[in-house]
Amino acid sequence: MIRMGRFAYHPPILAYHRVGAFHGDHVPTVSPEAFKQQMALVARWRYRVVALSELLAQLDSGESIRRREVVITFDDGYQETAQIAWPILKSLGFPATVFVTPGEVGLSGFATWDEIAAMDRDGVTIGSHTMHHSFLPLVPDARLPEELGESKRVIETHLGHPIEWLSYPIGGYTPQAQAAARQLGYRGACTTNRADRRRQVDRFALRRIKMTERDAHPLLLRAKLSGYYDAFRTLRAPG
Ligand SMILES: [Zn+2]
Repeated sequence: MIRMGRFAYHPPILAYHRVGAFHGDHVPTVSPEAFKQQMALVARWRYRVVALSELLAQLDSGESIRRREVVITFDDGYQETAQIAWPILKSLGFPATVFVTPGEVGLSGFATWDEIAAMDRDGVTIGSHTMHHSFLPLVPDARLPEELGESKRVIETHLGHPIEWLSYPIGGYTPQAQAAARQLGYRGACTTNRADRRRQVDRFALRRIKMTERDAHPLLLRAKLSGYYDAFRTLRAPG
């Protein structure tokens, strides 16, 4: 474990939701302009954007974690992810992971299966975000196979290859959900910043940093890319 004082380093995994116009809803949204600025800074600062699988392979191999690496993820599978965010990332050569909810695919505002398949062919890692965007701590254990397993199977049927990564809606998970995800064949699962802070990297509760419009500010983005999640939380605490 790498420590900076009392803070543990965790490779930065950025969590975006919608990149596009503000809809005035609860969905965390970053404007296309701010997203472009953020990605341009990531490129200018020579961060290496790696796929989730590459980060986990590094952790598995026991080699020390390389600094200046970052993973970029998107939850929910909004249409803007396919139409706005991915083209920006693609132009920079940055890999990404997009977690989709089969029960919402093709609904108004969400990417269609054709758009998801096109991103998949482009090299985007497609993961599951459960069948119905369910907050798993409130889901009875008996329904976990549907939320986690059926969603995986549906996406696999559309894309024709295994789906290996999961993102817990609203970051919510339980030990039962983690065990079910592992048993159903996922290689890992992302949460928000609410993971157990005593553990450095829990592959079934990978901590992520929620990205906002304000992170186009270089100082804020630098903090979020630093890997010191808890230091960042301290910085953000109101004085
Ligand atoms: Zn979500």
